[in-house]
Amino acid sequence: MAVCWNLAWSGILDKYKVTVVLRRYSKPFRWHLGSVEPGQPLDIELYGCLDESADFDPLVAEIAGPARLDACGLERVNSLGAGKWFRFMQAINHRGPHCVVKCSPALVRVLGMLPALVRLVRVDSVMAAFVCLQCESERSLEVSLHSEKLDLPQPRCSQCGSGMRFDENPDSYFRFLRFRT
Ligand SMILES: [Zn+2]
Repeated sequence: MAVCWNLAWSGILDKYKVTVVLRRYSKPFRWHLGSVEPGQPLDIELYGCLDESADFDPLVAEIAGPARLDACGLERVNSLGAGKWFRFMQAINHRGPHCVVKCSPALVRVLGMLPALVRLVRVDSVMAAFVCLQCESERSLEVSLHSEKLDLPQPRCSQCGSGMRFDENPDSYFRFLRFRT
């Protein structure tokens, strides 16, 4: 009886794991347009996976002037998605200047490998992961790139109050800054 129950339970767990994996890797690319304020760039929030299925054409049609692209929700970017991003930027380039804010770690890593992408659009800020030195709590913070010198925040842990460290190698994470013109 116990064996049967265990088998049934492990079956449920396996099914659950499969569902979690599929959900994690199949979130489609999508966006949300903010309200239009006179004289302000159009706010656009980007979400999901930037891969071969991402269709930017409807978004290109929405952008008539400068846009501020919030890339915090971009979870995964593959090489085909990077190519789509490049063509998207080319298509809207003459309607700018545009900027990217809250660039997600997935997009930051792609920018570090593709200088041509960095030169197409200004990146005003990125998201950066910090981890607590004591309790290992994690926190993601926006890092502004407005000043000449990179100024990483030194946050305190919201759980235990200890200091936190940046959870990446700063030289490789911010490598794309060298490609800026
Ligand atoms: Zn802590």
